[in-house]
Amino acid sequence: MNAPRLHLPAIDRLLKHPATTALVERYGHAVVVASLREAAAAYRAELLAGAESAADPVGALLAAAEAALATSQTSSLRPVFNLSGTVLHTNLGRALLAESAVAALASAASQPSNLEYELASAQRGHRDAHVEHWLTRITGAEAATAVNNCAAAVMLILNTFAPRREVIVARGELVEIGGAFRIPDVMATAGARLREVGTTNRVHLRDYAEAISPRTAMIMKIHPSNYRIEGFTASVAEADLATLAHQHGLPLAVDLGSGTLLDFAAFGLPHEPTVQETLAQGADVVAFSGDKLLGGPQAGLIVGRKDLIQRLRKNPMTRALRLDKLIIAALEATLRLYGDAEHARRQIPTLRLLTRPECEIAALAHRLQPAVAAACADCATVSVQACASQIGSGALPVDLLPSAALVLTPRGEWKVDALAARLRALPRPVIGRIYQDALWLDLRCLEDAEAFLAQFVSPVA
Ligand SMILES: *Cc1c(COP(=O)(O)O)cnc(C)c1O
Repeated sequence: MNAPRLHLPAIDRLLKHPATTALVERYGHAVVVASLREAAAAYRAELLAGAESAADPVGALLAAAEAALATSQTSSLRPVFNLSGTVLHTNLGRALLAESAVAALASAASQPSNLEYELASAQRGHRDAHVEHWLTRITGAEAATAVNNCAAAVMLILNTFAPRREVIVARGELVEIGGAFRIPDVMATAGARLREVGTTNRVHLRDYAEAISPRTAMIMKIHPSNYRIEGFTASVAEADLATLAHQHGLPLAVDLGSGTLLDFAAFGLPHEPTVQETLAQGADVVAFSGDKLLGGPQAGLIVGRKDLIQRLRKNPMTRALRLDKLIIAALEATLRLYGDAEHARRQIPTLRLLTRPECEIAALAHRLQPAVAAACADCATVSVQACASQIGSGALPVDLLPSAALVLTPRGEWKVDALAARLRALPRPVIGRIYQDALWLDLRCLEDAEAFLAQFVSPVA
């Protein structure tokens, strides 16, 4: 009512303003009206609080609304530069998809597909079909299925094969992978009983053998993803565990965690047990992640004996854990690249980044150093230094890859935390790692150097 007295332009009038038309086209009528109302309310509050009225209230309100719209419409999920030195960084989204996987995902997103439909027979199909033929072909397994992630795969295996029965696991393999995934808790949630054997550092075949009873449902081996027990240790090879399990008519399940389909040693990387090797040793079902070393979308893949995979598919849980069509499309496209190891290495970003030569990373660091040094002149000195990247996500936990970094050492009053915050505030946030009072930007994962440099053309704000 007292709007006129406060010289507040009416919303109707603002909506008729030519500048508003463009906003309405871009954001939609309702959103623009809401934003204008909010801007008007804020302006009114300022006037009531005694502020001078603007020389051009219409212009001021439109500008305020437009700024608010721009902020509110930016995604919460934003691209960043992962210069943390951890290639598969769970908090930064793990694996990046190959171009062909992105294209397949986009196509499945915008068009109907034969997701669960057999084109030849017009019968209902199974969504697993799209990835199963690749997984069996690549790994030699009889059958394969895929669920939401590896945690789901482990949960499904336990719930299907061991409800209210015992699963034998070595004490040294009772891993915790980031807060919520702890093997003992997963067992309990899945309804299985954990039967720990051995000690923290050593377990022998006889420990497993002595634990087998009529209550036993399965033997399980879990990849110690994010730690390594060194020194006086002993573990039992999959082949021996498989023989023991099979003598008692039990299945051997292996949670490989990262699991790779390629021999990493062939790329000059430390050896990581492959899914194929694990199956060849006699494992009956093997679970692994889609977005770790495989370099695909988030998924949990299970390969193994046909009768067991069929039982997994019949568990009602699979419906709750099933993969979305976008993920299936991306996964199929990623698996297709594994037809040829070198092809996979070049096209799958995770493999490309892990095998990126140190000299190439160092050359990039030297190329970028002058621009970054100039842009950060007020707050830091910038040098090029050798560093070591981590693989991350529980793959090869203690192996490091030689790399190169831009090292930003705070200058004057600047503290390293403030420096790091400044880089995180860039339009495309730059995530580094703080080490010894300096900010280290490991360039192993920097492929779009031009987009990175574009943020350092002038002093960083
Ligand atoms: C990472 C990991 C998991 C969990 O995999 P997600 O795909 O993240 O669910 C389970 N087991 C092991 C051994 C792992 O390394």
